[in-house]
Amino acid sequence: MKKEIPYKIYLSEEELPRQWYNVRADMNTDHAPILNPKTLKPATVADLEPVFCTELAKQELNTTDKYIDIPEEVRNFYKMYRPAPLVRAYCLEKALGTPAKIYYKFEGNNTSGSHKLNSAIAQAYYAKEQGIKHLTTETGAGQWGTALSMACGYFGIDLTVFMVKCSYEQKPFRKAVMQTYGANVIPSPSMTTNVGKKINEEFPGSTGSLGTAISEAVEVATSQPDTKYVLGSVLNQVLLHQTIIGLEAKTAMLKYDEYPDIVIGCAGGGSNLGGLMAPFMEDKIAGKQAPYFIAVEPASCPSLTKGKFAYDYCDTGKVTPLAKMYTLGSGFIPSSSHSGGLRYHGMSPILSQLYHDGYIDEARAVKQTDVFAAATQFAKVEGILPAPESSHAIKVAIDEALKCKETGEAKTILFGLTGTGYFDLAAYTAFNENRMEDYAPTDEELAKGFSYIPELDI
Ligand SMILES: *Cc1c(COP(=O)(O)O)cnc(C)c1O
Repeated sequence: MKKEIPYKIYLSEEELPRQWYNVRADMNTDHAPILNPKTLKPATVADLEPVFCTELAKQELNTTDKYIDIPEEVRNFYKMYRPAPLVRAYCLEKALGTPAKIYYKFEGNNTSGSHKLNSAIAQAYYAKEQGIKHLTTETGAGQWGTALSMACGYFGIDLTVFMVKCSYEQKPFRKAVMQTYGANVIPSPSMTTNVGKKINEEFPGSTGSLGTAISEAVEVATSQPDTKYVLGSVLNQVLLHQTIIGLEAKTAMLKYDEYPDIVIGCAGGGSNLGGLMAPFMEDKIAGKQAPYFIAVEPASCPSLTKGKFAYDYCDTGKVTPLAKMYTLGSGFIPSSSHSGGLRYHGMSPILSQLYHDGYIDEARAVKQTDVFAAATQFAKVEGILPAPESSHAIKVAIDEALKCKETGEAKTILFGLTGTGYFDLAAYTAFNENRMEDYAPTDEELAKGFSYIPELDI
């Protein structure tokens, strides 16, 4: 007889993974190499070192080690808020009247309110080991900046955060948390960097974008001693650290002989979905079990569903390496009426390749009013006020569960609940007062974004 499944499946500290899983070592087709923007040759560790910490540059380019040890200090930090619970959404299932079994992996149990801390603590650790004194980064919605502020505060590293201007203005309390942990927070585009000044001239009144904030942070990192740049999504190293999510989720499910038929995650730069999906993708690549993978993105920033699969810059100022990925163009600036994260123009090269090759079965773009309706429905029955980003996954999980209701199939659905929405109350208020607008870029706006994609002769 099957064991009765509890509302929350907890793992013990002992079961906390000791290694991250590098899905790239298993992929049948590796993603195209990232390119040095000056030479257009595949980037080497030496190319990446001026910007990134050495150990992280090595992780970025690692295609051979299937498992990478989690350093003891990082694992000990993880123990403060992990293993994260896997929740069986019994109450949501009941409210929907679906025969589907819904599980979510909850990553909001730490002050940053998201999964971002999983990579922030690892990146700050490697910086400290290398004797780096100062880190720079960008933040959009603010979760990454908060997570990195916590990590830098823990290891005593100085941190400068370029925060996308519209978010800086909408979320003053995010800034307060980052400052409490000791970070210096600057709205981007700023007048403190050359690239910031240039963008302010070219686009007066710009409310900023992640691409711009990245350029500013990289400029500071490369022009100051003992300073490196770190990024909270998109990169292979980030996806690697986030596999802790999927590894724990898989162990928890297997304890109860469960296995997902559908795995759903929101996709901004692809790190949480990549991390949740990776250990299940391992099975799919090996031809064992094949869950149906769905990446969910906002209709206002539709990299996978409307973007091009091409080499592009990871930032607006074109100072970062080029990556082959689904992209809307590094000059694409999503509407500021879109609340919350998931506003990045590109997508993780690993995720892009897996999607291109059909291993990720589907990408779905959803409207933000539908997302907030799903968030509200979820909050009422499951008790957690979800982050708007996470609510993209909730929306699709609910849709899939309702399909099961029609067909009578009892599918097992797993989605990533990446964080909480306490700092997104302006957006919740707009939704509650019917002031929230849906927005999707027009063909013209998309074409304008695509015009920034370089034509490479390679
Ligand atoms: C940053 C963030 C995301 C999106 O980033 P990914 O790299 O795509 O995971 C999703 N949810 C929350 C709560 C976030 O903070």
